[in-house]
Formats: sequence, structure tokens, C-alpha cells
Amino acid sequence: MLFAMPAAEVVDDGVDAPAGSLFSWVFELPPGPEAMSLLCSIDAASLDDFDRVRLVQAWERQHAWLSARQQEALVAAAGPKPANGDDWAVEEVAAAIKISGRAARGRVEAARVIVGSLPATREALEFGEVSLRHALAVVDEVALLDDDQAREVESRVVPGAGNRTVGGFRRKLRRAVAMVQPDIALARHRSAVAERDVRFIPLDDGMAAVQATMAAVDARALFDVIDTLARARHAAEGGRRSGVGIGARRVDALVCLAHAALADRSLPKSHGRRVEVQIVIDAASLFGLADHPAQLDGYGPIPAQVARELAAGARWRRLVTDPVTGYLLDFGRTTYRPPKRLTDYLIARDRVCAMVGCTKPAVRCDADHGVPYQRGGRTCAANLLMLCRRHHRMKTHGRWKPRLEPDGTIVWVSAAGHEYRQRPRSQLDP
Ligand SMILES: [Zn+2]
Repeated sequence: MLFAMPAAEVVDDGVDAPAGSLFSWVFELPPGPEAMSLLCSIDAASLDDFDRVRLVQAWERQHAWLSARQQEALVAAAGPKPANGDDWAVEEVAAAIKISGRAARGRVEAARVIVGSLPATREALEFGEVSLRHALAVVDEVALLDDDQAREVESRVVPGAGNRTVGGFRRKLRRAVAMVQPDIALARHRSAVAERDVRFIPLDDGMAAVQATMAAVDARALFDVIDTLARARHAAEGGRRSGVGIGARRVDALVCLAHAALADRSLPKSHGRRVEVQIVIDAASLFGLADHPAQLDGYGPIPAQVARELAAGARWRRLVTDPVTGYLLDFGRTTYRPPKRLTDYLIARDRVCAMVGCTKPAVRCDADHGVPYQRGGRTCAANLLMLCRRHHRMKTHGRWKPRLEPDGTIVWVSAAGHEYRQRPRSQLDP
């Protein structure tokens, strides 16, 4: 035992604790630095079964207290409100704790709501009465309410919330929100439709999923079209005897629609060329002399044999890596807009936006002069970075400055003065 138990502070907690439970008074302390330092000195192995469970509960309350402090720190760093429409402070948080810009936005926005608009939830978190997950459920469910309505919901659900699982608490929250704003279901539907989205999700084994979230009625229409095309093809090719399942036929039908769109000359262009799917493969592997994995842009490595089969088809853009291309690509001061050949090279080199942690594909980024053209910066590979629109604006207006190092590392100096390093992305890194 690392500290003595002051007899005066033993409290009767009203539960059936075995008489003389040594650490009762520690488990009863409100969460905070004092309780934490005492808990740190308790050796769990020395406790009986009853107190081991209480130790878990005590740490859970500490965790909630820490979460409350963390929300305050996030709001202090990012500000109680976005400083402007771009909310650059979110990028500082993303770079500092190595999470995506999207995740950082979610964290900062939730912290602003908890600290600024949900006093009862914040207090319950600080006293360890609810977990951060309970608090985030409140943030989610009151998103479409004004501050007064949100506080009314809080007053109905937060007392006693810690006795419910997050799922049960969320159901209670929804009932309370519906009482406070009866037409909430329609408002939620409209808001959800506004947030519709398509996401690319890399999976193992050279596979990936495309997940589209949309209004149920649109999803039904889309699925029915794909299903009809798939069934027609399935019947034409011998049904089950063909050995191809209806699920696979649906995927083929969907992919077929995408390829038909790719072949359409009116498809919008990006960097002066039509949307293309890009494969990077080294020369030796392309000609079958080696089997180094190739890179499917926006996904990661795929087996050399799969890449060779794809590269033979016309609808893929093949980029054959050659380490000695630099001399072709320095166009000096004769041009501001990078020529297409240079843009192609930059897209292949950078693959994604040059901001730390950003995964926006380079093909949808702008080529940006590291040293501005007006200040003598050259239009060459060594002075150009691919930046997505958001991070391009952040460099121009958000007081973030990138610096290119000789080894290709990009050092970003943030608005708050921190340095974040983005190592050059290898062609064969996922
Ligand atoms: Zn970016």
C-alpha cells in the first residue's frame, strides 16, 4: 500500500461494501487530479474482486473528467466559433493530433457544442456521471434544435443518464427531442438528404467498396435499375449455370454504367483531361521482368499481374515510373500554368494533396507554386505542390506556409507556429 487511509475520510457509500473496504474513500472522490493521483497508486492485484470492479468504475469517471477537460482544450485552441467560413483552426487540430480533417472538424464542432451550448451535459461529464459517448449522443440528437430547446432536452434526459447504456440513452433523447420539437422527423430527413454522400472504402485483397448514402427513394430507384440490368444479363448468359451469382452481376452492371460514362466525351474534365483511373507501375514489372506491386491511384498496391492485365486495356491511364524524368520537366520561367506533361508528372509524384494527412487525390488538386511565380518561383517539379482547393486556400489566406526540403519532405509551418512534416509519398506506399 502506497498511502495511508485517513480514518476520518472513510465514507459509508450505502452499497454492500465488505466492511473495511480499504479504498472506499478513494473510489468516492469526485474525479479530478487528486483522485487520479491516488488511483494511480493503487495496485489492482492487491484488491479483492469487489474493489477491482469499483476501480474500473473510478477510472471510467476519471476518463469522463479528462474528456471534459479535453473538450475545453479543443475549444480554447480552435475558438468557441469558427473564425471564418474556412475554420482553419480545425486544420491545426488535425495536424497536431494526426487525425483527418474530417475527423478534426467533428471533434471541434462537438466540443464547441458541449462547452458552449450544453451546460448540464458538460457538468455531468466533468463529474464523471456520463461518458463522452453519452455527451456526443446529446450533441448529435440536438443538432437541429436552438439553444433553448437543447437545454430543455438536457434537463429532461441528463439527470440519471449514467444509469443507461448509450443506446438506451439515445432512445430517451430522441423521445425528448420529439416532445420539444414535434416536426423533428421531417427536419432530420431534410438535413440527412443534404448530407448525402458517396465514399470510397479500401478493403483487403485488392477490393474496395463504394458506399452511397442517399434518400431511400433514390436508393431504391438506383438499386432497381442495377438489379434489372443484372437479371437481364444473368438470363442471357445461362442463369445459374453460368457460375456467376446475381450479386456479382449487379456489381458488373454498376461498373458498366461507370465505364459508359467514362467513354462519354462530354464528361467534365480535370486538368484538361477526362476522368481517368491511373495505375503506376515500374517498367520492369510492366514488361513482366519483375513482379513489384503496382499502385492503383486512390487505393494502394495491387499485384503486378493484375496491373499488367489492366494496363493492356485502353480505359486505364498507365504511368510507368522512371526515376530520371526530372530534366524533362523543368520549364523554367517561360510559363505560369504548368504544361500538361508536368501536371501529369506532379499528379503521379504527389498522388494526393501535399497537406499533412490530406488524402484528396492529386488529380483533383491545383498545382501550386511553393515560391510564388511573382517572386521568381520557377514552374518546375521542385517548386510545385499539388494542393486541394481547401488547402490551397489555407496556404493563401490561412497563414500556413509549406517549405520544400531537398529530400522532398514538405514542412508546413502552421498559423500557431508549429511545424508538421509530410514525408515524400513513395509510389508504392498505400
Ligand atoms: Zn488537401
